[in-house]
Amino acid sequence: MKIARVRTHLLEHRLEVPFESASMRFDRRSHLLVEIECDDGTTGWGECLGPARPNAAVVEFYAGWLIGQDPLETEKIWLTLYNASRDQGQRGLAITALSGIDVALWDIKGKRFGVPVSTLLGGRFRDHVRAYATGSFKCDGVDRVEDNAAEMAGYRDAGFHGGKIKIGFGVAEDLRVIEAVRAAIGPGMRLMIDANHGYDAREAIALGRAAAEHDIDWFEEPVIPEALAAYRAVRAGQPIPVAGGETWHGRWAMKEPLEAGCVDILQPDLCGTGGFTEMKRIMDMAVLAGVRLVPHVWGTAVQIAASLQFMAALLPNPPRVNPVEPILEFDRTPNPFRQAVLTRPIEHENGIVAIPDGPGLGIEIDRAALREFRPKEG
Ligand SMILES: [Mg+2]
Repeated sequence: MKIARVRTHLLEHRLEVPFESASMRFDRRSHLLVEIECDDGTTGWGECLGPARPNAAVVEFYAGWLIGQDPLETEKIWLTLYNASRDQGQRGLAITALSGIDVALWDIKGKRFGVPVSTLLGGRFRDHVRAYATGSFKCDGVDRVEDNAAEMAGYRDAGFHGGKIKIGFGVAEDLRVIEAVRAAIGPGMRLMIDANHGYDAREAIALGRAAAEHDIDWFEEPVIPEALAAYRAVRAGQPIPVAGGETWHGRWAMKEPLEAGCVDILQPDLCGTGGFTEMKRIMDMAVLAGVRLVPHVWGTAVQIAASLQFMAALLPNPPRVNPVEPILEFDRTPNPFRQAVLTRPIEHENGIVAIPDGPGLGIEIDRAALREFRPKEG
């Protein structure tokens, strides 16, 4: 079994209503899938976190090393690609592009042995997970306080046990949003806040101290990810548990934040931090550091499926009869191709998502959707 072809699939949709996080304005959804085809016809699928076109260029750069390789040798291939751009640095696109390839190779491996990736990772500790709803961005043309509150109440009504809102637009306005959202959803639903590194440490500490009375589960990316001293200051200076890690790509990027005690909850992104091969190592690092691991998920159902396979195999930590169960980040913002890329969508039922148990990622790609959402221009 040899790798015969590597293809990238750009998907794009211009949004009717743009929305914003503290650090980015979204006027379109754009994601990249990776397809690896073997000489026996087996095909594996992966996805890359981050800007689709630059990721595609790096995947195509890596493709020269992949053709003719044994797709089952995931560790050997990972290291070969990792070394290919060593002199340009081991962060960012070098790792996000490698992630999509690694996920596709594990999909192939699962199909080759007729088992889900979670079995290959060591076993399925669970066959379903609770999902939390990610939404409540800042939308154009609406009152943000009312809009965010109504949106989160809708997720509660749909059965979600928790939800995450976007902050980082200014402490006073953010506090009005948090208060309104908590009032709208009531006391029973978990509420997380995500500043998308929009604050400095002083703002984040002020926000965290004032927001804590609204029972906030975690405070995500309070400050820029490279400011580790600021992370520590936020963690020490306010009472809400601090979460982060979606931009720390690879184990070496995780090392310092974990050693420095920057977070209570680590949020590696499977499709950004190096795929299954690296994620397994990062899971061990989180255990050693004594932090919880809640994967970051932002993409199509390919990424959701891959994250679910990882979450099935996520070690119970601490090991006990009723462990703290991982929860799935379930993006609810507009994205018409998120589920359309699969012949059988991965949906929630009353806030619970079943983990596919078919070979590999347990999914089948709808190629008509790939054609439908191929960028029209450029
Ligand atoms: Mg986030």
